[in-house]
Amino acid sequence: MLMKKHFAAADVCVLEQNPRGISYGFGIVLAERGLRCFRKAHAASYEALITASFISRNRVISHPDESLFIEGGGYGGAISRLRLLEILEGSCEREGIRLEFNARVDTLEALTMPTWWWARTG
Ligand SMILES: Cc1cc2nc3c(=O)[nH]c(=O)nc-3n(C[C@H](O)[C@H](O)[C@H](O)COP(=O)(O)OP(=O)(O)OC[C@H]3O[C@@H](n4cnc5c(N)ncnc54)[C@H](O)[C@@H]3O)c2cc1C
Repeated sequence: MLMKKHFAAADVCVLEQNPRGISYGFGIVLAERGLRCFRKAHAASYEALITASFISRNRVISHPDESLFIEGGGYGGAISRLRLLEILEGSCEREGIRLEFNARVDTLEALTMPTWWWARTG
């Protein structure tokens, strides 16, 4: 998205080895500082992320024997990894960035292959 932002005429394509809608993690917390950088880099995606996240300044450290509640500090936004990917994918597609799934890159030569090649080998 940053490349497209700075070079609007560039033909940007993301090649992802996994199918769409796959994540091998469950959730992520985006910290205050990272979110601030994100807002500066791409305000529309930031707004979508913030809306979809659970925002809190508190922490709970859980241990089998006890839980510790920590109040205050910097805030963080918790979001499921799949939702995060959906938001980023949507932002890319709205900006004309192509997303190719099931497209594992094993050699540099493969980067020059057209879409039909990925469908054949994916
Ligand atoms: C257990 C765990 C918990 C974490 N928790 C947090 C957290 O709470 N907050 C936080 O800010 N960060 C967290 N992180 C760190 C965060 O996940 C990473 O910093 C972030 O995902 C890195 O993004 P990336 O795009 O550089 O790499 P990735 O998210 O790893 O993306 C790389 C993508 O490239 C694809 N790919 C790789 N090789 C190829 C290939 N040859 N061909 C095609 N596609 C390929 C992969 O399938 C993957 O989808 C956590 C990390 C882990 C492991």
